[in-house]
Amino acid sequence: MKWNNSKNQWSQLGEAAIRAMQAGKLRRFLRDVVLPYSPHYRELFRARGLTAEDFSSIDDLRKIPFTSKSDLLPTDAQPARFKNYIIAPEPRDLARRPGTICRALMRGRSHVQKELGDEFRPRLIFFTTGRAAEPLPFCLTQHDIANLAEAGRRVMDVCGARSEFRLINAFPFAPHLAFWLTHYAGTEFGVLVTSTGGGKVMGTEGNLRLIRKLIPDVIIGVPTFVYHLLHQAADEGLRCENLKKIVLGGEKLSDGLRHKLRDLAREVGATDVDVLSTYGFTEAKMAFAECPYPHDESPSGFHLYPDMAIVEIVDPKTGEPLPTGSPGEIVFTPLDARGSAVLRYRTGDCTDGGLTYEPCPHCGRSVPRITGKISRVTEVREMNLDKLKGTLVDFNQLEHLLDDAPHVGAWQLELRKRNDDPHEVDEIILHVQKSDGTGDNELSHGLRDRMFKHTEIHPNRVEFHSAEDMRRLQGVGVVMKEQKVVDHRPKSGETGSPSPSQANGSATTSHNQRNLVTAQ
Ligand SMILES: [Zn+2]
Repeated sequence: MKWNNSKNQWSQLGEAAIRAMQAGKLRRFLRDVVLPYSPHYRELFRARGLTAEDFSSIDDLRKIPFTSKSDLLPTDAQPARFKNYIIAPEPRDLARRPGTICRALMRGRSHVQKELGDEFRPRLIFFTTGRAAEPLPFCLTQHDIANLAEAGRRVMDVCGARSEFRLINAFPFAPHLAFWLTHYAGTEFGVLVTSTGGGKVMGTEGNLRLIRKLIPDVIIGVPTFVYHLLHQAADEGLRCENLKKIVLGGEKLSDGLRHKLRDLAREVGATDVDVLSTYGFTEAKMAFAECPYPHDESPSGFHLYPDMAIVEIVDPKTGEPLPTGSPGEIVFTPLDARGSAVLRYRTGDCTDGGLTYEPCPHCGRSVPRITGKISRVTEVREMNLDKLKGTLVDFNQLEHLLDDAPHVGAWQLELRKRNDDPHEVDEIILHVQKSDGTGDNELSHGLRDRMFKHTEIHPNRVEFHSAEDMRRLQGVGVVMKEQKVVDHRPKSGETGSPSPSQANGSATTSHNQRNLVTAQ
């Protein structure tokens, strides 16, 4: 099954039709692909006495236990556990399928061999952009690449792209979802795309040169990098009146940053720019977008593709599926994956809005949407950063707080131990690049008050930096996830002093620098 009618109808079905379609697709996916050829799920279903026929509605999904990133991580006994999740049929088994025999008789053996190779043989490997856990390989076959391109085409469609658009893809060159999805989105939708690789390959100047030459309608990249790019463009007096969309991925996008990006776009002459966010993750092999909305209203959430995947919202503590509209953790099940495939994948991302099936108030598409702000909860736990100076800190809240702070262009929160002694008290240094000419003292006081009021912690000091220094601190354009929170606290047992790279502020080489920003 490659494409069917739902490819063209994906955005027009109502809730009941969506659920019925998804149940049918899930059953076929389990019966024809997962249960015969996925080592992990074949064994799991056998042990639980389950078959594809046990799934008559999508409520039956709960019969399948969750899969999490930790299930794929290597152990001493199983150093390559991720392989158990790869759909890997034996050629012998495929040759015996009635469908294979029929097609071979009608179209010839070599034609069928090529088709099966396209469907099942891995052609591309992504790596998860792990911050807390180590990166894991995730395989795509040609079949997955076609789905990736279709998902990308839909991102363009939802964002309101037009075929005459010119697009700059400023995601870092990397074996990551964001870059490749954007690449295939452009070719599948049919727009002119050029990829800069972010700041690492061409530097900010190279990106700006390309903006001057290409005069793009769309810039797509990581929020902090696009912010720095536009900031620099505005400083240099560059004009980019043609710019219509700024599409962002790889990190969450705060309301504050949306406003700042729109302001900067105005400074380069683009008066009516949509700043749109996307949400995706490696394990989904797809991403979802917001549609354009009036600037005095709120975005309506991430538009899902119900024919390609089922998204559930579950209680992050109990794992119980929650009704539409309830905040909770995002759980993902693909309906047409090959290569690496995980069912009921727990993303660790929580939305405070939940899922809705109501037609979108802005674009009218009746697809399920993930609404509200998305926060990554697992990392806060895994990184053991939830307690600072003896106070419980909601880092997601802190992040929104600083993103939305007036007069702040970019920021970084650095955690240290006093004298770099692991047994000493925590120290917090807030690094700030100002967005205007506000005085250091005034802003420093304002930020300390703002932080204390909402989180009950004070930064030990606030340090101000130029745009260039802040870019270096954050690793903008060099790393996929800009370093907005870095942990320089030595662990017990480590010798104290930071490495020279930490001392001089380089953000890329520290052994324990980590980042709390969300949404890959
Ligand atoms: Zn919409």
